[in-house]
Amino acid sequence: TSARPFNFSAGPATLPEPVLRQVAAEMLDWHGSGMSVMEMSHRGKEFISIAEAAERDLRELLSVPEGFRVLFMQGGGLGENAIVPMNLSRGGKVDVVVTGSWSRKSAAEARRYANVQIAAEGNGREIPRDWRLRDDAAYVHVCSNETIDGVEFHDLPHLTHGVPLVIDCSSHLLSRPIDWSRVGLAFGGAQKNIGPAGLTLVFVREELLGHALDICPSAFNYATVAAAHSMFNTPPTFAIYVAGLVFQWARQFEYAGKRGLAALEQRNIDKAGLLYSALDASGFYENRVDLACRSRMNVPFFLQDEALNETFLAEAKAAGLLQLKGHKTVGGMRASIYNAMPLEGVQALVGFLKDFEARHG
Ligand code: PMP
Repeated sequence: TSARPFNFSAGPATLPEPVLRQVAAEMLDWHGSGMSVMEMSHRGKEFISIAEAAERDLRELLSVPEGFRVLFMQGGGLGENAIVPMNLSRGGKVDVVVTGSWSRKSAAEARRYANVQIAAEGNGREIPRDWRLRDDAAYVHVCSNETIDGVEFHDLPHLTHGVPLVIDCSSHLLSRPIDWSRVGLAFGGAQKNIGPAGLTLVFVREELLGHALDICPSAFNYATVAAAHSMFNTPPTFAIYVAGLVFQWARQFEYAGKRGLAALEQRNIDKAGLLYSALDASGFYENRVDLACRSRMNVPFFLQDEALNETFLAEAKAAGLLQLKGHKTVGGMRASIYNAMPLEGVQALVGFLKDFEARHG
């Protein structure tokens, strides 16, 4: 019901249109307060109610167990690449499984604080087997959805050696349930499935708190942030507000007889299925990721004739399909199809793929 184009950006990414409309409607006067959310004290009752509702709805959506603290932080995914080892490594060992660009970056950053071992390294199209894990590591890090490579863990690793698992779930957070029994800490930037950039979500088991290195800035010490209910310093209030509206939207979302996260997940499965089938059925386009770990969120693909790339992007844009250019490190195209991308957006993309192939193939 909208004339807006479909936006396939990897992030900051498309948001649910009803949320954008509500933000616009409430911009000058939030609920009769006479203030924009941007203008409110983070310690006032209005904003506290917004933040508490956001956390409650997020916990409910993802069935976050009691023993986890939910932190609203800043610094993004790359910030967490340093904040996690500063809080959890105790200066000891960290094992990282490299499945693509983001986990490789995480390993490099953690090296500044810990003894990092690459437990296994994939080629960006698979999840590698045979991990070398150390029993005395402080944690094992994986990126559960590699945004650039399009590699997703459809099951989180089940570690049996008593070492906590840390997941960077930035680009598929809220797209599917999380098996919390396997997770020690999960983090993600908001700017894909959740809201504006500037908010970083951290879910951490209480028993992992309280071991930060002395060099850890207080504002990034999880124990300090948790004790202050994410109000140790001024949190990204506007981003938390928009995220809260996205959580409300998600809780009410209905699709295929399902509701909430289950409905979003089902639509994500259907969208990804539609797009991968179209790519696989064509000899003109290609996705190179192993079938077992293709991402539901980020679908990189290549035109066999790369000389057509610029034409493809220009024609896609003219057809109302935005931001399909692949990441500069891999080239080609990438369609990010997060929660807020409707099925119609993927149908329009698939229609365009066929049409483009018919004209240029
Ligand atoms: N990890 C993943 C999986 C990402 O997709 C991104 C951003 N695209 C990052 C980390 C970095 O996040 P930020 O730019 O918020 O620091």
